This record gives sequence, C-alpha cells and structure tokens, in this order.
Amino acid sequence: MAIRMTFLGAALVALAVLAGDATGVFCKYCGQEARDARTLLTSPCPKHPSGFAKGKHALFEGEPRSEYVCVNCGQTARSLKALVTAACPKHPSGFAKGRHVAYEGSAKAKYTCKFCGQTAGSIRALVTSPCPKHPDGFAKGKHMPAR
Ligand SMILES: [Zn+2]
Ligand SMILES: [Zn+2]
Ligand SMILES: [Zn+2]
Repeated sequence: MAIRMTFLGAALVALAVLAGDATGVFCKYCGQEARDARTLLTSPCPKHPSGFAKGKHALFEGEPRSEYVCVNCGQTARSLKALVTAACPKHPSGFAKGRHVAYEGSAKAKYTCKFCGQTAGSIRALVTSPCPKHPDGFAKGKHMPAR
C-alpha cells in the first residue's frame, strides 16, 4: 500500500508538472529541460550518476523554485542546472565523487531527518551533522531531509 501511494504521489507530481504551462520538465541529474516527461525520460543523460550517457535522464519531482538546495551539503544555486552539474564536496561516495543532488521536497520552516527524526531550521544545518540512525550504521552518514 505504501508503495502504491508513493507511486501515485510521483504520478500526481508528474501530472502537475505536465499541466504547468510554459515550463517543461527537468532532469534531476543534468538540469536539462524538455517539453514533456516522455521526451526527457527516453533520452540518454550526459550527467548520469553511472557515467556519460550510461542511463536516461530522470525526472526532477520537486516544484520549480527560486533556489535549489543540495541534500548532501546544503549548497544552494539559483537554477537546478547550476546545482546538479557541479561537484559536491560532501557527496556520500567521497569528496567531489559526484554532483550535488537537488532536494525535491517543498520549502519548509523545519526540515526533518527521514532516518532519525531530528529537525533543523535549514537543510544545510540538518545535513552537515552525522545521523545516529543512518542506514549504513551509527553516524556513518549525515541526516537526510524528508520531503
Ligand atoms: Zn539528464
Ligand atoms: Zn552538495
Ligand atoms: Zn538523522
């Protein structure tokens, strides 16, 4: 049931994005914009996490906003493309081993860690401290904001 709801949620977000007028949909790996999700999701992504064109573009499910935030280091950028195409100093695989990953949730007054429930007033404040309930083990990674 939970899986079904998540899928429904994702589908609704995709629909909401598609229903929006001028702006199209964006790839969460490279920031590329396309008119519709089908076009986006069927073409290879130059910034795919597995390597150049090793996979397809993936749909950014967040809402368009004036500022995008990385869930690993809290870095912000004015455009999705500017954020996700730059190397992340706090990437889980190591320093600059990958690019920033844009937060896809809504803007909140308080962000909650999805592993342990810790809260913080900003994503940067939350993701820079180690999480006692991290899936890899005690303090083996940082808090991760829930959507
Ligand atoms: Zn892409
Ligand atoms: Zn980052
Ligand atoms: Zn946590």
